[in-house]
Amino acid sequence: MEKRTMAVLGATGSIGTQALDLVRRYPDRFEASCLVAHSSAEKLFALVREFRPRVAALAVEPEAVPEDLRFCEWIFGPDCAVRALEAARPMDALCAIVGIAGLDAVWTALDVCERVLLANKEALVAGGDLVTRKARRLNKPMLPVDSEHSAIFQCLQARQDNPVRRLILTASGGALRTWRAEDMRAATVRDVLQHPTWRMGGKITVDCATMLNKGLEVIEAHHLFAMPPEKIDVVVHPQSVIHSMIEFEDGAVLGQMARPDMRGPIGYAMAYPERLPYGAEPLDFARLGTMTFEAPDTRRFPCLSMAYEALRAGGSAPVALNGANEAAVAAFLRGQISFGRIAEVIAETMSVCPARAVAAIGDVHDADAEARAIAQNIIRRDS
Ligand code: NDP
Ligand code: MG
Repeated sequence: MEKRTMAVLGATGSIGTQALDLVRRYPDRFEASCLVAHSSAEKLFALVREFRPRVAALAVEPEAVPEDLRFCEWIFGPDCAVRALEAARPMDALCAIVGIAGLDAVWTALDVCERVLLANKEALVAGGDLVTRKARRLNKPMLPVDSEHSAIFQCLQARQDNPVRRLILTASGGALRTWRAEDMRAATVRDVLQHPTWRMGGKITVDCATMLNKGLEVIEAHHLFAMPPEKIDVVVHPQSVIHSMIEFEDGAVLGQMARPDMRGPIGYAMAYPERLPYGAEPLDFARLGTMTFEAPDTRRFPCLSMAYEALRAGGSAPVALNGANEAAVAAFLRGQISFGRIAEVIAETMSVCPARAVAAIGDVHDADAEARAIAQNIIRRDS
């Protein structure tokens, strides 16, 4: 079997390390030829020592690269992911950088690689049609890594030519699902980072608690599956066993189930159309006992409605939504604003951010910078 070379962008993160676990299990099938991270130099050094990529990169230049790791090409600087992809030219790029910081890498991966394995949802939320049009024009598959989108993608394999009436994204509800509105405002970083079913990076875990993560995923689903917002629904399913569903015109619903483990969706994207065993424990339905569902409470989780609004508004609105959220989440994690302020900072930013058309990636970056500046001003007023 042909060995696939793969760039792991965000190699030291939650998704990156789980992808590398699969590479470790399948050395005959995958070669991590390019590893990229932001500033976790020691972690990246250990990975480079183990996986021996051709190219390694860090956004923040370390003081020195250990002697024994100089066998590969090292690239440093804020644009290191783009330059690393151009230098390594791998078959696949696993885009698992967090935030819009990964957008240029996704853009370059579409030029340089055969396939993009997309975890970096913020890149698609902000890049939107520009990204999907480029993928279509170049005929490059963008395989979803996000568990909900992987689930939908897996269900769609059984679609044949039948129209899909609706996509149903499931949501765990995050760490504060059962909290009262008045207590939620003052939830601490510690409270928010206790995700009930998934272990993930800090930013996405906060997004789960505000449920903006689900909002970003609605926008992501819109772009990946060309579905209008009114055909994308969200249902809260705290057990995170059904990862998402599709509904046909005759009312039949297909869902994909598995124990919550990101190596499932990551492996499905890496080996598509094959499936990679990774030692997943079987789903024990008798032990699971019940699966429950509830409507999202948009009063306690206003971010979800804001995401639908941004998607309907189009243009730069989703870029502003994402930029304001990235600024607000970073401020919350730094202890600058309360949890309750995150949604308010986003709402206030959206209300004053001018709606613009986005015709090029430069427009996306401009709209992002503008939204962040507005959000930062609002945050500064608080502290
Ligand atoms: P983490 O915070 O765990 O990891 C982020 C990774 O990106 C780290 O390797 C980090 O490097 C790197 N990175 C950050 N900024 C840059 C930059 N400017 N240049 C180069 N590398 C950078 O995040 P996750 O793995 O949780 O999430 C990654 C993406 O996948 C996000 O978009 C998230 O929404 C999505 N996702 C994650 C899921 C999960 O289970 N974790 C599930 C579904 C989607 P360093 O360590 O040096 O900071
Ligand atoms: Mg998800």
